[in-house]
Amino acid sequence: MNPDTRRRVALQVGRVAGSAAALWTANTFPAISSAGSLRAALAPTTTGIGRPGQVAFTFDDGPDPSSTPQFLDLLARRGVRATFFLLGFMVRRAPGLAADIAAAGHDIGVHGDLHRNLLFRDPVSTVADITAAHELIAETTGTRPRWYRPPYGILTTSAVLAAARLGMRPVLWSSWGRDWTARATPESVRRTVGRRLTGGATILLHDADCTSAPGSWRSTLGALPALLDDSAEQGWQPVTLTDHLTPLRPTATRERSLEPGRDRVGDRPEAGL
Ligand SMILES: [Zn+2]
Repeated sequence: MNPDTRRRVALQVGRVAGSAAALWTANTFPAISSAGSLRAALAPTTTGIGRPGQVAFTFDDGPDPSSTPQFLDLLARRGVRATFFLLGFMVRRAPGLAADIAAAGHDIGVHGDLHRNLLFRDPVSTVADITAAHELIAETTGTRPRWYRPPYGILTTSAVLAAARLGMRPVLWSSWGRDWTARATPESVRRTVGRRLTGGATILLHDADCTSAPGSWRSTLGALPALLDDSAEQGWQPVTLTDHLTPLRPTATRERSLEPGRDRVGDRPEAGL
């Protein structure tokens, strides 16, 4: 981290830590990583449910030179853009690869600097971790990440506040492949994702095995073509989280059709927004 970045991080930590510390007793915001329906009920906006004609493929824990390039090649061959939630410590090892992901048109999210369960981190170190990762990833990729996903999907109050201060929105997932286990196969990943796969889904997968069983990414990579085929069969277009979750801008026609006194257009409900 260069001195400028270190100063910005210190400033950010100071700003957020005050309010976060006051909320320390509330810091054990439910660990909502595993129970899908519970997660949806408690925090519908964080499950990443987007437009029904789309699905968002998301990949955590990279970048890793031994696996991520193969995901990038496959996605490029299929003409698909996805979202990569990067880890700061992995970006430091492969900054060029992090830049390549962004240059290929994929969305960039922050997964943290270190991959640690936030339930066991105090507010100051939580804010420092997220801020450092955000600054590093922004500098390395040339994009300001808009999405934040905590390790293990466990959000705390401090993390929510830190992400908001940095202009990031927390996004978990609505479907996963359990692709991190040693027993995962391409078939099991496809089947497990399919159990909760609907139009509008955000799918959690991993392009690196730094926190998973060694080599488990091969099952993910093996499942990906079939998952893309399954989505295409249903008519669901794979998109980035920005395309999935950003509200559509009103068209000029709709603006002209505004009634006097109305100051908003595009009031149609967007699931999960
Ligand atoms: Zn992770």
